Amino acid sequence: MLDFNHGSDRPAEDPRALPATVRINELVDAALTAEREKQSRREYLGASMLGDPCSRRIQYEYVGAPKDPGKDFNGQTLRIFAAGHQFEALSIKWLRAAGFDLLTEKADGGQFGFAVAKGRIKGHIDGVIVGGPSWFFCPSLWEHKALKDKSWQDLAKRGLAISKPLYAAQVALYQGYMPELAQHPALFTALNKDTQELYHELVPFDASLAQSTSDKAVNILQATDAGQQMPRIAANADYYLCLFCPYAKRCWHGA
Ligand code: SF4
Repeated sequence: MLDFNHGSDRPAEDPRALPATVRINELVDAALTAEREKQSRREYLGASMLGDPCSRRIQYEYVGAPKDPGKDFNGQTLRIFAAGHQFEALSIKWLRAAGFDLLTEKADGGQFGFAVAKGRIKGHIDGVIVGGPSWFFCPSLWEHKALKDKSWQDLAKRGLAISKPLYAAQVALYQGYMPELAQHPALFTALNKDTQELYHELVPFDASLAQSTSDKAVNILQATDAGQQMPRIAANADYYLCLFCPYAKRCWHGA
């Protein structure tokens, strides 16, 4: 017979103990942080960062400047990145089920992408679509993002170029350096992480955006080689982008 009332052999709860959520998340986040620290640093300018409007911030990333204290990726951010990969896997599955022949890796298991400037500028794309509905032109570049509802709604309303210029620059640069994927519009897919709605946009190649993004990359490499800092994006530290920048102290106060 069950008896839930004896209780005498259970250890008394320590009221000073941290809640299980805090204690367990500390372990999870420590494991994720340790895993990340094992990964080697990117020693190239990645296409995903080149759309950032501040060249100095991109340069800090490129040279591996330490972020300001407390501004490095925390456990929660690492979990968000990991969840993004899972959302991407779902979108891939759904697009394939819908009849798109979507390749996400080469026959040898490597990623599709490009490398120029002796490997100092690189990009890795999410996939290539080589088959699909009769109205769909391929091969085409496929790029995916998983977004929070507010960000997704804005994208769906205003479109990639206006709502997400950073991603638009990324797509343009990929197409610029992978001309076989510039003949047809890229397919940009965004999954709403809160509602699982899907947004798809066909993005024609924007040669001028690709050129300006590539020029930005070359300028950053040249300045870095010459030991020069790129200019700041703003005249004052209270500029809205600087307020959220993980290098703000380093940038404005030389920390
Ligand atoms: S603090 Fe502002 S100017 Fe400095 S790197 Fe960051 S975004 Fe650029």
